[in-house]
Amino acid sequence: MAERDDVRVIGDIARVETDDQGGTVPGIAQGAMQMGAYAGKAIAARIAGRAPSKKPFSYFDKGSLATVGRGKAVLDMGRLHLSGFLGWMVWAVVHITFLVNFRSRIAAMASWTFAYIFQTGVNELITKPARSEDHGPKSTDASSG
Ligand SMILES: Cc1cc2nc3c(=O)[nH]c(=O)nc-3n(C[C@H](O)[C@H](O)[C@H](O)COP(=O)(O)OP(=O)(O)OC[C@H]3O[C@@H](n4cnc5c(N)ncnc54)[C@H](O)[C@@H]3O)c2cc1C
Repeated sequence: MAERDDVRVIGDIARVETDDQGGTVPGIAQGAMQMGAYAGKAIAARIAGRAPSKKPFSYFDKGSLATVGRGKAVLDMGRLHLSGFLGWMVWAVVHITFLVNFRSRIAAMASWTFAYIFQTGVNELITKPARSEDHGPKSTDASSG
């Protein structure tokens, strides 16, 4: 896509190398947000008729913050390590803070509260071995009749 400078690929669907050893930007929210900010500036510059920055995208790792279950999360930020419910509280505050507007924050909090109380979370770990039929239709050899 090198010949199309008006097309940007960012977030989870982008593979962006961070070093020469094969390190890549992780598929997490902060990676997507940083790429979004970078692409947004380039698009704004283009609309304003300015040349986009020649500085390549560089990822700044702020640490890891991830949910690992109902009301549980892990935080790994420099020397700060939190887990369990305390980690989840920090996770919730951080995620609410970074949502785009007040309406989104209210919607997210209402959704989380509903899911927490009624245990209706749609995100589940897949712990069972895959069934053979999960791998798509069995191949049929047309040549064997
Ligand atoms: C279960 C789960 C838990 C996660 N937990 C964490 C966590 O704790 N911390 C963390 O940092 N990251 C977490 N992540 C990762 C994080 O959600 C992603 O890295 C981040 O959302 C990527 O952002 P994105 O904008 O690239 O993609 P998305 O957030 O997936 O946004 C893509 C958007 O494009 C829309 N879309 C798709 N196709 C089309 C189309 N054809 N036309 C128009 N719109 C379209 C989708 O509906 C969606 O809104 C988690 C991911 C999952 C799946």
